[in-house]
Amino acid sequence: MATNGHFAAVGDQPTAEDFGHGIQVIDEDKSFTTHLNEYLRETHVAEAGFNYHLISVFGSQSTGKSTLLNHLFGTEFSVMSESERRQTTKGIWMSKNKKGAGSMADNILVMDVEGTDGRERGEDQDFERKSALFALATSEVLIVNIWEHQVGLYQGANMGLLKTVFEVNLQLFLKDRQSTPRSLLFFVIRDFIGNTPLSNLRNTLVQDLTKIWSSISKPAGLESATIEDYFDFAFAALPHKILQPDKFVTEVDTLGRRFVAGHRSTTDQEFVGGVFLPEYHRRIPADGFSVYAEGVWDQIVNNKDLDLPTQQELLAQFRCDEISREALVAFDETILPLEEQQAEGVRLGRAVVLAGLGAAGAASRASCLEQFQAQAGRYHKGVYTRKLAELEGKVDTRLKTLYQGQLAGAHKAGVASFTEAVTAAVKTGQKAGGNYEFADIVETEKAKTLETFKTEAQGLAIPEVAWTNFKPQYVLFEKELDEVSAKLRKEEMRRLATRVERWVKSRLGDAVGLEFNKLGSGRAGGGASDEPSSSSSGTANGGVPSEKDLWDRIWNVFVDIVKEAQERFTERAKSFDASDVEVQVGLWRLRRKSWVALREKIDEEVMEGNILLKLRENFEDKFRYDEAGVPRIWRPSDDIEGIYTRARESTLALIPLLSRFRLAATIAPPDLPEWIGNQPAGVEPEDEDDLTPIGGVDEEEGKSLEEEMTVLSESKRQDLVIRFKKTADGVYVEAKRGALGGITQ
Ligand code: GDP
Ligand code: MG
Repeated sequence: MATNGHFAAVGDQPTAEDFGHGIQVIDEDKSFTTHLNEYLRETHVAEAGFNYHLISVFGSQSTGKSTLLNHLFGTEFSVMSESERRQTTKGIWMSKNKKGAGSMADNILVMDVEGTDGRERGEDQDFERKSALFALATSEVLIVNIWEHQVGLYQGANMGLLKTVFEVNLQLFLKDRQSTPRSLLFFVIRDFIGNTPLSNLRNTLVQDLTKIWSSISKPAGLESATIEDYFDFAFAALPHKILQPDKFVTEVDTLGRRFVAGHRSTTDQEFVGGVFLPEYHRRIPADGFSVYAEGVWDQIVNNKDLDLPTQQELLAQFRCDEISREALVAFDETILPLEEQQAEGVRLGRAVVLAGLGAAGAASRASCLEQFQAQAGRYHKGVYTRKLAELEGKVDTRLKTLYQGQLAGAHKAGVASFTEAVTAAVKTGQKAGGNYEFADIVETEKAKTLETFKTEAQGLAIPEVAWTNFKPQYVLFEKELDEVSAKLRKEEMRRLATRVERWVKSRLGDAVGLEFNKLGSGRAGGGASDEPSSSSSGTANGGVPSEKDLWDRIWNVFVDIVKEAQERFTERAKSFDASDVEVQVGLWRLRRKSWVALREKIDEEVMEGNILLKLRENFEDKFRYDEAGVPRIWRPSDDIEGIYTRARESTLALIPLLSRFRLAATIAPPDLPEWIGNQPAGVEPEDEDDLTPIGGVDEEEGKSLEEEMTVLSESKRQDLVIRFKKTADGVYVEAKRGALGGITQ
C-alpha cells in the first residue's frame, strides 16, 4: 500500500499507517481527497463535535513552515532536505496534533499549505488565492511564518500573500454578515536574533498590515470596515533552528503552550489563556467537516461565489439526512418485526395484541430522536429543526399505524372474550339451576374487559405526545361492549321467553285437556239444551261444571296461567336489567304466543277423532245412565227411543257451542285485541318474524276476530254431526238389541 496518504486505488481502505504523515487534503491537481472522513474517524476527531480546532500555516516557500509544524505538533509533514533544497509540500496537507496531551487543546488539526513565491508565478498565484480562501473558510488560526529580516520589507512576498488573504476574507464575509467569524493571524517570526525587541517588530508589522488593508478596494457597504473587524493578531519569535537548536526547541515548547482555549480580557482586549477563542470557531461539527470542506473547496476550485451560510445549510441537510437514516436503523430493528407480526395477523384475520408494544415503541422512538438530536443538533438550526420534525413524522406515522392496529386487535379480542365470558357464565348458571344474575355477569365481565383494554391503551401512551392519547378508542370500545351486551341480553330474553312459553304450553295442555275431558261426562249438566233440569252455572249438579260455560272456564284458566307467566317473565327480565320497553315487548310477545298455543291446544282437542270420542262419551253417559248415575238395564217396556232422542239432541247441542269461542255472559268472543294490547313501540320488525298472525289483532292479515274464534268450520261441523249421529245410532241399535235379548234370556 502506498504511503503518505496516497492510496493505490479507489476502494483501498486506508490504515493508521497510511496516515502517518497526515492526509493530503488537496493534491497538486487541486482535487479533494476522498479519505478525509476516514482520517478524522481514524484519529477520533470525527466524534469530537465542536471540540476540535483548525490551524493553517502560510508563508513563502522554504521558510521552515513544515519544520515548525513538525516541532510544534509532532506532525510528520515532509520537509526540504538540507542538501536538495527544492519545494516539498504540495497542495494542502492535514495532520492531527500528536503532541502535548494535556498541555494543548484537544483535537488540533493542522493544515500545511504549499508555500509559494506567488509574486513570480502566475499559476501559483491562483492556487495561493484558492488555498487562502479555503484556509479562511475553515481555520480558526492562520500562522504566518516570516523571517525576521523580512519584517518591514513592505514589498516582500509575504505582504503580497497577506493582501490576498485580506481580499479573500472580505469577499467571503460579504456573504456572511450575520456571523462574521473572526480569525487570528498568528505571526511567527523566524531566525529572531533579539536585537530588535519583539514589540518593535510587532508595531512595524501592524503598520504594514494597516497599510495593506487601506490599499485594497473594499466592496460596497464595507468601505469603512477596519482590519480589526475581522482579525486579531498575535506574535511570537523563534531563534534560528540550526544555529541555536536547543533554544529553538525550548522556545517552540513555550509557543506550543499557547495553543489552548482562551478568552479576551475585558479590560485591555488581550488574550487570557491561549489563542483558541470561541469566536474563531467555524462551528462545523467534526463529523460534518469533511463534507463541508469538500463542498467549500468545490465552490472555490470552480470559481463560484463562496457562500458559507449556504454551504452550512447544505451540509446540515446532508448530515441531518445521514444521521436520520442512521437513527432509523435501530428503530427499524425493533419496530419492523413488530409491524410484520401485526401485518401477518391481520392477513390471517386474527386479533393481534403484541406483547410489550408500548414499551418497545416508546423506547425506540425516544432513542431514535435522542440519537438524532445529539448528533444533528449541532448543525444549522433551521435545517435541524425541520429534519427533526421530518424524522418525528416518519417515526410517528409508523408507530401510529402500529398502535392503531394494536388497539383494533385489542378491541376485536376484547369483544370476543367478553362475549365468550358472558356466554360461559350464563351456561354455568343454567347448569347450576338457572339462578344466575345476568346483569351482574355482564357488569363484571364488562369491567374486566374494559380494564384490559385500558391497560393496553395506557401502555401505548407517551406523555407529551398528544396522538398517543387513545381515549376516543376507549370510548368507542365501551360503546361496542354495550351494544354486545344489549345483543346478549336480547338473546337472554329470548331464552327466557322460550322457557316461559314452554311452561305456558305445558300448563295449558293440562288445564284445557281437563276441560275437554269433562265433556265426556254427559251427566254433567244435561247437555247444552235449555231443559230446566240442566243448569247454566258451572258448578251445579254436584259440582260438575256445565258445558255451557266451557269457554269461560278455558278463558279464565288461560288468563290466569298467562298472568302468572307474565309475572315470572317480568321478575326475571328485571333481574338482568332489561329496559321497560324490552319487558313490555317481551310480555306482548308472550301474550300472543300464549294465545296461539291455546288455539293450537283447542285445535288438537277438536281434532276429528278426539272430539268424536268425547261426544260419544257424552252421549253414552246421558243415554246409558239415569239421572242418579245408575246404569240402565234396558227392558222392552223402556222408552228407549225417547231417551235416545233426548240424549242425542242434548249432545248434538254441544256442537254449535264447541264451534265458537264464546263467553257465556256476553255470548261473544273475549276481547282478545284488548287483552293482547297494542304492539309496544320499539319492537324491531325482525322480532315479528316468528309471530303467527292473529285474527282481529293483526287486522292487516285480513282475518277477523270472529274467524279467529271459530273452532269448527261450518263443513267440519256438519261432518261432525253426521259422524256423531252414526255413532249414536250404533249405540241405540245395540241398546235395542240388548233389551230384546234380555227378554229372550
Ligand atoms: P517549508 O517549505 O516552508 O515547509 O520549509 P521546510 O520546513 O521544508 O524547510 C526549508 C528549509 O529551511 C530546510 O532546509 C530546513 O532545514 C530549513 N530550516 C528549517 N527551519 C529553519 C530555521 O528556523 N532557520 C533557518 N534558517 N532554516 C530553517
Ligand atoms: Mg513545507
